[in-house]
Amino acid sequence: MSELHKFLFDGLPVRGMVVRLTDAWQEILRRRHSNPNAEAYPEPVRDMLGEMVAAAALMQSSIRFDGALVLQVFGDGPVKVAVVEVQHDLSLRATAKVVGDLPPGAQLSDLVNANNQGRCAITLDPKAKFPGQQPYQGVVPMFDDRGEKIERLSEVLEHYMLQSEQLDTTLVLAADDRVAAGLLIQRLPVQGERNLEGQGKTPGLDGVVINQANEDEIGLNEHYNRISLLAASLQREELLTLDVDTILRRLFWEEQVLRLAPQDADIGPRFACTCSRARVGNMIRSLGSEEAESIIAERGDIEVGCDFCGQYYWFDAIDAAQLFTDAGDQAPGSSAVQ
Ligand SMILES: [Zn+2]
Repeated sequence: MSELHKFLFDGLPVRGMVVRLTDAWQEILRRRHSNPNAEAYPEPVRDMLGEMVAAAALMQSSIRFDGALVLQVFGDGPVKVAVVEVQHDLSLRATAKVVGDLPPGAQLSDLVNANNQGRCAITLDPKAKFPGQQPYQGVVPMFDDRGEKIERLSEVLEHYMLQSEQLDTTLVLAADDRVAAGLLIQRLPVQGERNLEGQGKTPGLDGVVINQANEDEIGLNEHYNRISLLAASLQREELLTLDVDTILRRLFWEEQVLRLAPQDADIGPRFACTCSRARVGNMIRSLGSEEAESIIAERGDIEVGCDFCGQYYWFDAIDAAQLFTDAGDQAPGSSAVQ
């Protein structure tokens, strides 16, 4: 069963999480395999997407955003786009588009940053939007501070958490055909009554006030640095094969770890797709009736497949006519199939 475990280090400003996606990740892969119009992911793409899914679940759980956290990589190599969406309740879905062949032994940069144009975007799309509100988006480069291409997705996301959330973060990620897993260690921002009154404070995404005192602490907290080093020693094989209790015991046996109740089953990370016939209908409406009629004249009907779950939706001439006569009744906020 897929599970997410949170823990604290007693008396220290450090927290952690482990996510292990088994059935949720296998369901994403199974749906891809059984979609006649999509090819199975080549192994390096599969592993990258699995790491993205694990990371997105950890990030959503870390910032507890009331809406969808969307992690996307826009690639300029064989992977054109890879996208993971995690809702507030940890339901999630993912897909990637691959064009052409991968070079042998492809690394992250060969997949998505072959021509230096790859980028990673994190979008926070609120559930309830006020009119005209745009989702918040942060874009992270896929180069490190010395201008070298980053070969680990975890490093890209650590940069994001530091730059956008002012949070020292250590991430270890791994995926194969059965498991997508991740470990996150984070320094808790400095908080205090005095600090709350301070100048230059900015609200963090989960309402935590981040202030000058916190910025001064970045990279300097000895407890965080020690625990971060322990976390970074976790090997890919260990993360993929060991249960959470064993991982935490092996890494942090000298620390006082306080475990919170694990989230699994109905409250844990799980596969779910948000596509629907109504949303596809809205998308066809946005094409306009002329375009819709010309597709039907050419092909007999409009067929739209969901890349995330493999579900297909068909609209014939009568369905389409109905869409445009009912145009005034469309549900708000559902203008796209995704
Ligand atoms: Zn779907």
